[in-house]
Amino acid sequence: MEKGSLLYEGKAKKVYAAEDPELLIVSYKDDATAFNGLKRGTIEGKGVINNRMSNILMRFLAKEGIPTHFVRELGDRDTLVKRVRIIPLEVIVRTIAAGSFAKRYGVEEGIVFDSPTVEFSYKNDALGDPLLNESHALALGLASREEIETIGKLSLRINDLLKAFWLERGVTLVDFKLEFGRLPDGSVILADEISPDTCRLWDSGTGKKLDKDRFRRDLGGVEEAYREIMDRLGRTADTEQNAPADGVC
Ligand code: C5P
Repeated sequence: MEKGSLLYEGKAKKVYAAEDPELLIVSYKDDATAFNGLKRGTIEGKGVINNRMSNILMRFLAKEGIPTHFVRELGDRDTLVKRVRIIPLEVIVRTIAAGSFAKRYGVEEGIVFDSPTVEFSYKNDALGDPLLNESHALALGLASREEIETIGKLSLRINDLLKAFWLERGVTLVDFKLEFGRLPDGSVILADEISPDTCRLWDSGTGKKLDKDRFRRDLGGVEEAYREIMDRLGRTADTEQNAPADGVC
């Protein structure tokens, strides 16, 4: 499928028009940034891995009843998705203390919570994606009360599904970030990506970090970690990558 005009270039992806105005083509790059763009680099092969992994996980979630933007994988780096208006909230679900949570509240990384936390940030690079609560999101007109409720429920369900999915592959899902979008009919669906750029994934046996923290924290072995986590998906990657999402096309 031919890419149309470049509509948007983000830190890790380019977005192109597709022939069908209700769809878009997302193209994953190897560029990596952290700390709101202050740290920049390249992770060789990352775009290919993130594209494939995100598609496998979106397909898995779709089968479990989560509405997603995934339509069809077009190539190593390119995927056809439904066009949505992104809701400017970054939704972070945590099962284990790490990253900004550990820093903000002065707790050690690795503490397992009795129940998961859900937090929202205002998706706004110029402001550094500030944390906000539901009443702030309502005051700023970022989403309706119903949308926020839907996003919260979907996010917790996605956490349950992904935690179990990764555990079967010897990986502990520590936390992750989701983004949601609105279709023209107003319904809310999962958008963006689910990848080692947007999740913390630790080897369940050794605790080894298999995600972007290796890049953020200069831990070394970044490319290897991305390849290793992709390998954990095993045969799913070979058998399902090109099948269209249920109910689409
Ligand atoms: O840095 P923090 O601990 O808040 O990150 C929580 C989770 O959200 C991590 O898995 C991280 O990869 C993800 N995240 C993201 N994009 C951001 C902020 C966090 O994917 N802008």
